[in-house]
Amino acid sequence: MFAEVIVDIAHSDVDKIFDYACGEDCAAGMRVAVPFAKGVATGFVMRVKEESGVPPEKIKKILRREDDLPALTEESLLLARRIAERYRVPLALTLRLFLPAEMRTGKVARRYVNVCRLAEGEHPVSPRAKQQLALAAYLREHGEEESARLRERFGGALKAMLDSGAVVSVRRRVLRDPYRGSVSAAPAHTLTAAQQSAVEAVKSGGTVTLIHGVTGSGKTEIYLTLIADALREGKTAIFLVPEISLTPQMLRQLRARFGSEAAILHSGLSAGERFDEWMRLREGDARIAIGARSAVFAPVENVGMIVIDEEHDGSYSSESAPRYSTFDVARLRAEYNGCKLVLGSATPSVETYRRAKEGEFGLVTLSERINARPMPEVRLVDMRQEVRRGNATAFSRILRERLQNCLSEGNQAILFLNRRGYSQTVLCRDCGYVAKCEHCDVALTYHSEEDCLKCHYCGARYKMPPACPACGGRHLGYVGTGTQRVTAELKKMYPSARILRMDTDTVSGKEGHFKILKQFADREADILVGTQMVAKGHDFPSVTLVGILDADMSLHFPDYRSGERTFQLVTQVAGRSGRASAPGEVVLQTYDPENYILRFAARYDYEGFYAHEIALRAATAFPPFAKIVRVMVTGEREDAAVEALKEVYEGLSELYRRESDRFLFFNRMHAPIKRIQNKFRYQVLMRLTGDEALREIYAVCAKIKHKDVLVYVEENPSNLS
Ligand code: ADP
Ligand code: ZN
Repeated sequence: MFAEVIVDIAHSDVDKIFDYACGEDCAAGMRVAVPFAKGVATGFVMRVKEESGVPPEKIKKILRREDDLPALTEESLLLARRIAERYRVPLALTLRLFLPAEMRTGKVARRYVNVCRLAEGEHPVSPRAKQQLALAAYLREHGEEESARLRERFGGALKAMLDSGAVVSVRRRVLRDPYRGSVSAAPAHTLTAAQQSAVEAVKSGGTVTLIHGVTGSGKTEIYLTLIADALREGKTAIFLVPEISLTPQMLRQLRARFGSEAAILHSGLSAGERFDEWMRLREGDARIAIGARSAVFAPVENVGMIVIDEEHDGSYSSESAPRYSTFDVARLRAEYNGCKLVLGSATPSVETYRRAKEGEFGLVTLSERINARPMPEVRLVDMRQEVRRGNATAFSRILRERLQNCLSEGNQAILFLNRRGYSQTVLCRDCGYVAKCEHCDVALTYHSEEDCLKCHYCGARYKMPPACPACGGRHLGYVGTGTQRVTAELKKMYPSARILRMDTDTVSGKEGHFKILKQFADREADILVGTQMVAKGHDFPSVTLVGILDADMSLHFPDYRSGERTFQLVTQVAGRSGRASAPGEVVLQTYDPENYILRFAARYDYEGFYAHEIALRAATAFPPFAKIVRVMVTGEREDAAVEALKEVYEGLSELYRRESDRFLFFNRMHAPIKRIQNKFRYQVLMRLTGDEALREIYAVCAKIKHKDVLVYVEENPSNLS
């Protein structure tokens, strides 16, 4: 027998299939150790076959199998091939997507403990051996117990009974359960008529259905019903959410509903926990894979339902190689398994909505909240007038009044702004100098708690200079407001209010998110201040006021999607207000109150927003009417990067000349941020009429091999900086 093996080295030169001799027990999907070059490498068996075209004297033998059960399923192997082809990346790289990193590096493995129990049959114990009698009684009562614990308690008696054969010791596998003990049962709701018909529409519809439901319309309950139905049919399910670690309520709900059938994969888990969750899915002990983007690769077989919640979320496109689209992978899996794929959002992306409108996807609309709760009223506040009235703080008069009212009624408030730190930047009022990062071409942000300047791109910290480094002037000022400054101002305005701040400076890892959100949910605080983290799908019943401090921030982002993003953000944040019986309100502060995006958002008019936006995209030939493709060239040595850029540009120019009718735009330039983490950044920016030229663009880039320079392709990148 022979095995076709891909060696797990992500270097395109070795992205070739090698034949090795193997035994009968070798199967596709297994990880194996093979002799490679002068050493030993791990490889993946892609296929097992009877004969090989390689001369017998050249064929080496597989050294050993790394797993009993093939780590990769048939479906994983097929998908890995498709992704490698589509994005022109080595197969070794795409295969890795399907394994927990911990497995590849071999740093964790299954954990076992030794346990003892009474042996079968009669093993009389002398009535004088008091300890042995006690041990026997203990084991009769408890069944089995960890050997280490028994040794502590019964000492020599254990050894004696093991020696005599009265007690036997066995190895047991243990699972590291990340959420042990955090479960409280949550009953399933009886579906409303709208929810019921949504469930039926998904089941009787085509492969993909979009559920467009306002915030609080009960989408989660629909997903859970669909997933439960798939399990009942003996199938498995995949449930993708943007940031599960940010939504402990969702976690709790899932554990309460599905118990150990649910395996939750996310970045907050320890290596061992992640490995065990993955293993439970692979071995079929858990049948629902829940997690962020990467859970789309979960090793479940016989999939009966795939759900992508908050489908518009930017986290669904990968920002490192391979830059796959989660939706595309999910759709492939749905087609492979013959199951349904559900996309859900209160603010679907313009592209998805168009595909639904055009009939490519099914469309279900839920326009009312559960129990016909009203949507919170949104007030647009013109901040220019506030400035004119001499109010230079981040809070309008009306926001202060509503906040006071909210607090005195004993309710909770969420304040959102899109910038962390104390101020946006530090500026010299004498010469205009702006403090910038030495490694990145970006302005630094002042952080008052650590009294330092931080780079938000690379994390570097700098001391706050006592005077302007450029002119020596003493008039260094803070420009713009961040979460720290807002929190400090709030503390002055409402000394008795309990305030929590949540942004990447205050939270780290699973514990951090949980702690802050739990404190807020347990009403240990009155006001939560934060960046977009607070916009995610939280369900806090006592929140009746949401303040959006700077709605304009994201509007002026140099990106064709900035309007869409702003609409989504405002709608999502506003949706946190008034979710229970008390009615909610939203104060939306802006310097641009006539802006159509904000006006549509304030009225919850998605259709109006969509009609306006899609007309604009059509008129300007932007996605979904065109595709933006950016080839990035980055490297620490500027001359090498420029050299590589030239090569890329030449290759692409040739394509451009040949197929100019497929190009709407074609240019090379510095990336908007010229340097990040010491890497110079250049780009070729293209706008294409469709996908036809894509394959060739990838092919051109795959050919460029420059030492120390990274070349990669981005399709409709969500961040053009
Ligand atoms: P969405 O995901 O659409 O924003 P959720 O699924 O969070 O909405 O539901 C909003 C609220 O309504 C939650 O508190 C949820 O428990 C409740 N809910 C959902 N379905 C029902 C139902 N059928 N009956 C009663 N309450 C429900
Ligand atoms: Zn930096």
